[in-house]
Amino acid sequence: MPKRGATGMLSEALRRLVTEPITEPYVVEDLEEQPHLRGRPLLIPEKCTGCRLCYMVCPSSAITMVTVGTRRVGQREVPLQHPRFDYFRCIYCGMCSYVCTFKAIELERKLVPLHVGPKPSGGEGA
Ligand code: SF4
Ligand code: SF4
Repeated sequence: MPKRGATGMLSEALRRLVTEPITEPYVVEDLEEQPHLRGRPLLIPEKCTGCRLCYMVCPSSAITMVTVGTRRVGQREVPLQHPRFDYFRCIYCGMCSYVCTFKAIELERKLVPLHVGPKPSGGEGA
């Protein structure tokens, strides 16, 4: 990118003020099927074995493994952990779903309501 002086930067800033934005506004009303989205990960708990593969591949550390019960391995009872998704960290890359051998993560092509500030009571946790 060529270097610009203060005058060049000021004229570029002024020019950008009158051009159309290149981003799209977040949809706040129609949250239904969005074909351009890859989707947000949703767990199908009954299919998850707790293998942690999704947790290991997540590039943005958006997955935490939480203990949800126990499972039997040979003669021993060991903790069963399932992934929990932090949608504020998730970049919606779909890697977790891609690597899951058990098809326990589906990608839902819906937007989630955007909340700024404290979460409303009774809302879905991240
Ligand atoms: S990769 Fe699939 S089976 Fe393994 S912990 Fe993640 S969701 Fe569960
Ligand atoms: S979609 Fe990508 S960023 Fe989001 S939880 Fe899955 S692997 Fe992580």
